[in-house]
This record gives sequence, C-alpha cells and structure tokens, in this order.
Amino acid sequence: MPGIVCKFGGTSLADADQFRRVRAIIEANPDRRVIVVSAPGKRFAQDQKVTDLLLICYDLLDKHLEIDPVYNRIRERFRDIAVALAIELDIDALLDDTRTRILKNPARDFIASRGEYLTAKLMAAWLGADFIEPADAIFLLDDLRVHPKTYQHLSNLLSTKKLSVVPGFYGKNERGRITTFSRGGSDITGSIVARAIAADIYENWTDVSGFLMADPRIVPNARQIDELTYKELRELAYMGATVLHDEAVFPVREVGIPIEIRNTNDPHGPFTRIVATRQLNDRVVTGIAGRKDFALFQIEKDLMNKMIGFGRRVLQVFESYGVSIDHMPTGIDNMSVVVRAGNLEDKTAAIVEEIQRTLEPDSIEVFPDLAIIATVGIGMIHCVGFAGRLCSAVARHGINLRVIDLGASEDNMIIGIDNRHFDAAIRAIYHEFVG
Ligand code: ADP
Ligand code: ASP
Ligand code: MG
Repeated sequence: MPGIVCKFGGTSLADADQFRRVRAIIEANPDRRVIVVSAPGKRFAQDQKVTDLLLICYDLLDKHLEIDPVYNRIRERFRDIAVALAIELDIDALLDDTRTRILKNPARDFIASRGEYLTAKLMAAWLGADFIEPADAIFLLDDLRVHPKTYQHLSNLLSTKKLSVVPGFYGKNERGRITTFSRGGSDITGSIVARAIAADIYENWTDVSGFLMADPRIVPNARQIDELTYKELRELAYMGATVLHDEAVFPVREVGIPIEIRNTNDPHGPFTRIVATRQLNDRVVTGIAGRKDFALFQIEKDLMNKMIGFGRRVLQVFESYGVSIDHMPTGIDNMSVVVRAGNLEDKTAAIVEEIQRTLEPDSIEVFPDLAIIATVGIGMIHCVGFAGRLCSAVARHGINLRVIDLGASEDNMIIGIDNRHFDAAIRAIYHEFVG
C-alpha cells in the first residue's frame, strides 16, 4: 500500500502556526500517510533551533553544569505549541520524563535526538496518528549506512492505513544505542521511510519553493529549478546547496522514487521534482553551489608523473592522519589536495612535515581559507567555451582562481577561490549563465 511520505523541516515546525500549516497540507491529500518531522527550527533570525539548544545541554552536562536554564527554553518551545493547539497530551510529564532520561543517559546523540522525538509525540497526539519509534525500526551501521533489515521492519510498522508520524534524524546503532545522522539528517529519515513503504513520492517540505539555481541568501530571487536528476541533486547538495541533506538521495534513488522539494508556506506554489533522468533543455547550467573553509596543499616535484606511487604516498599521509580528501586536481609535475579545514584540525604542520620528509617535493605550499564552488549541469562538457566563460566571468570581478577542476564528473566544474570572494564569485557565475 504505497502513498506519499512527507518530511517537514525545522522552519516548517517552528511554532503552532507552522503546525497548523502542516496539518492543512496532510489533510489536503489522503495519500499523504506518513509524516517525518524535524525538531522546531528558528522562528526568527536571532532564534535558536531546538537541536542547537539540546546540544548546549549536552555540553553543559559534559562540564558537570546545570542544564535547566537551557532546558527550560526547550520546555517553553514545546509547551507553547501544545497549549496553543490544545493538544491532548500531558506535555509537562513528557518534558519531565525527557529531562530525567537525558540526565540518566547524557550521550550526545541521545540528547540531540530528543527534539525530533518530542515533535513527533506532539504531532502524533494532535493528529490522532500513530507514533513510530525509529529506535525500533531504523538500524544503522557504524558508518551510518542503513542496515537492509530496516526497510522490512519499517514497512511492517507502517502497513496500516492509519496516519503515522516518524521522528527524523535518528535510529539505533549495532550496540543498541540511539545514533543521529549528521545535521540536517531528517531528510535521510524521510528517504528511508519512503523507500520502506515503496512510496509514490517523497515530499520534502521546507521554507523555499523548491531547489533554486543558487543559495537565495547569496543570489536573491535565484531561479527555481523544475526538474533535477538524482545525480545533479547529489552534486549540488554535497557541494553546499543545503536545502536537502546530500545523503538523502541514496535510499530513494535505488528504487526510483521521485523527491519533491516543496514550500510549507506556499503549498500550491512551484516546486522541484527530482528524478532519474530528465529532458535536456537549452540551459547548460543547472545550479551553482559552494562551501567555504577548505585548505589547499600544492605539491610540486619535477618528473612527478614518472614516479610510480607518488600520488598514492601523498594520499597515504592524509590517510594516516585520518583526514579525508575532497578534491585532487593534478598536473604533470604538481598535484593539489583539497581538504575541509574542519577535518584538518591542527594537523597541517605535521602533514606538511611528513610529505617533505618522505617524498622530498621541490615545494609544498598550503593555502588556507579556500572556498570551493561547483557549477553543475548535464552536458556542459559538450558546450564549447564553457570553462573559458566561467573563468572570465570570475576574473572580471578581480577574483583570483586558485583551483580549476573539470574533474572526473562530466557535469561539474569546480573552482577554488579565497573565502572572501565566495559570494561575489557565485553571483558572477550566476549572472554569466543565468542572467
Ligand atoms: P529545513 O529546516 O526545512 O530542513 P533547511 O534550512 O535545511 O530547511 O534548508 C532550506 C534552506 O536551504 C533555504 O531556506 C535556503 O536558505 C537554503 N538553501 C541553500 N541553497 C539553496 C538552494 N540552492 N535552493 C534552495 N534553498 C537553498
Ligand atoms: N534537527 C536536526 C538538525 O537541526 C535534524 C534536521 O533538522 O534535519 O540538524
Ligand atoms: Mg534541512
């Protein structure tokens, strides 16, 4: 018995009014039979997300400090919603019980997961729906991949016609403990649930009318994208288009369930549909996304190309320090390694020293504060002059390109620039190709 899975993000659940919107969306279509919820997000710019407040509670407990000043703010958020909607649930008892459990089990992931848990409890009580506990059904391996038995378990739990509410963001690991995905991970839960019920559609409800060609905080009024492939979505999301978690694509892609990104505040407005293949249109660029805070290691050595194992040994140094690599543009006598600054911690000097000692390069330089921007589009590889246009557009704004990589993926051109020029470079590329 398929149907539609609807995942609602934090802003879509930030207060009682947002809960009302969610209800109206669910009631508008009886096929919408499973709801996946995030924890309440920000109600206004200076507000804090419930998950962030919970993580502060974790830090306080870790330092053996009192959590109540912060926990009481979480309490107020949920109480306000429960009272405004007259939800028949003993919210104080639920919040007291949650507080007691947090004090008994002060593990980071358990605490972080309570925002989704409480939201789903409220939503289920309000809609008269079943509450589905992810710890009983979503089984995660140590690397957070989904254990295949998850789908059958979830499918059994969701086989009734009744409306069900599933908290996003967490499951249970192999040692039986609650484990969360990385931030924004309720999108992954939605995808897992959609696959489990062989859904017709996975609707992802958020605060923008679909996937836009660039981050609207950088390019106001960026064009909305009607249709994207899973591959384009994965690339844009991984490269920084945070509207959907980049790993959310996998469970549904394997079975071809379309994803729709829709706006809770404009439910009948435009939206983006994500599918396996799409018709090419005359637009070369599908979207532009990026992230700041990478570091670039540039290694030069004459005749490097002839030294068997040189590249492997460079990568081995990063591996031995537990640093994963994002990009690796190479030349004839030089190679560059781009890593996320957050993964490097304070290991830069040690990595440089080890490369110098073991590989004796002619030079090795590190450029911190690098931003990476990806311009994605099927067929750009066949578009004569594409790379030249992109580079000139950025150069016209006086921005120096540190990295240019047409990469292994045919439909993705990557540039690396100074963090300071991030927004300007995205706007320059957008205006060059979109207008
Ligand atoms: P939710 O709380 O619903 O999960 P998120 O905050 O995770 O929502 O994602 C929605 C936000 O993603 C938007 O408000 C927007 O600021 C940001 N965003 C970044 N890049 C894009 C993009 N290319 N298209 C749309 N939104 C984007
Ligand atoms: N509440 C979690 C977060 O803030 C998960 C999510 O919203 O998807 O990251
Ligand atoms: Mg999100």
